[in-house]
Amino acid sequence: MLSRKKIIQDLTKEELSELIKPSFRAKQIYSWIYHKYVDSFEQMKNLPKEMREKLDAEYTLTPLKTLTVQDSIDGSRKYLFELHDGHTVEAVLLLMKEKEYHEDGSVKHQERYTVCISSQVGCKVGCAFCLTAKGGFMRNLTAGEIVEQVRMIKKDNDIDANRRVNLVYMGMGEPLDNLDAVVKSVKIFADPEGMAIATHRQTISTSGLSSKIEKLGKMELGINLAISLHAVDDELRQQLMPINKAYNIKSIIDAVKNFPINDRKRVMFEYLVIKDVNDDISAAKKLLSLLDGIKAKVNLIYFNPYGGTEFKRPSVKDMKAFQEYLTSRGLHCTIRESKGLDISAACGQLREQELEGEV
Ligand code: SAH
Ligand code: SF4
Repeated sequence: MLSRKKIIQDLTKEELSELIKPSFRAKQIYSWIYHKYVDSFEQMKNLPKEMREKLDAEYTLTPLKTLTVQDSIDGSRKYLFELHDGHTVEAVLLLMKEKEYHEDGSVKHQERYTVCISSQVGCKVGCAFCLTAKGGFMRNLTAGEIVEQVRMIKKDNDIDANRRVNLVYMGMGEPLDNLDAVVKSVKIFADPEGMAIATHRQTISTSGLSSKIEKLGKMELGINLAISLHAVDDELRQQLMPINKAYNIKSIIDAVKNFPINDRKRVMFEYLVIKDVNDDISAAKKLLSLLDGIKAKVNLIYFNPYGGTEFKRPSVKDMKAFQEYLTSRGLHCTIRESKGLDISAACGQLREQELEGEV
């Protein structure tokens, strides 16, 4: 068990500067935590000794413990973290090759880091295909527990504080079911004197809690939205995702239409393709009309099978045909190919293996 002290990463810089006077100390502390990645107050050498001791008596800087790290062949790394109460969550570091097009016609390839983070231990939504759902719901993460996943991963991989990273709330849990802590973490990540991960580099993925999408939109954070759609008619969607009873497809589409989208961005619709369940071209056809009038892009995901599931991975041929149908009609559509991404999309698997004693 780890310490029960308050978690300092739960505090925004503004909150910290209210608590610690004079307020410029908050900036110094932020810099030690998020730029120099220190793990003790003792190391914050430009703070007076009494201040360091007082902070140490009240707060912890290490709310997570790394239990396992798993490397995938494409360079992605999956982390299993233990929280102070013994629960575990996953986060993944993904390495993606990105093409940068320049005005002189040249194309530069560069590597981009993306961290996939968890927002809850387990999930209440209970999607039929999802391993996280199988373990039920335990609790929400605090903002600091979300923030710390990224700090730990940056530190472990020697990622410089100034290096750009993107964040996706696509790990375990439903971020909009833990809206307050998630929004707080978004702001802490974005703090220019902290990790400085701009909100347009952060994406929240949701199973479609329409009322919360509306609420998030009104906050005008500049964050990107991804919708886990997975089915184009309510009957099937309800079987796959019971939440569809409360928030049907139309309510989600309406909420997305009201969501403020950055001029250069699109709302991502994730479509998990399951063999013989939703991989038919008639579904692609319906998807096209459903997204009519929305600045959307579709990301097709291969269902990633695990022991005990009746669902199957679709064939490459069907996947390509589905994509081709959409792209040839002008809809942006990509297929999530990479092995690492497959693992991350199925966040929950490492934790399950651990619980079953396979790791
Ligand atoms: N709760 C949020 C975010 C976490 S789930 C949401 O549902 O959007 C992140 C993504 O992983 C979702 O799109 C989900 O459908 C996908 N996923 C879940 N189980 C999967 C599996 N077995 N194979 C591939 N993707 C899966
Ligand atoms: Fe929860 Fe997302 Fe898994 Fe559905 S897919 S059970 S919403 S984590």
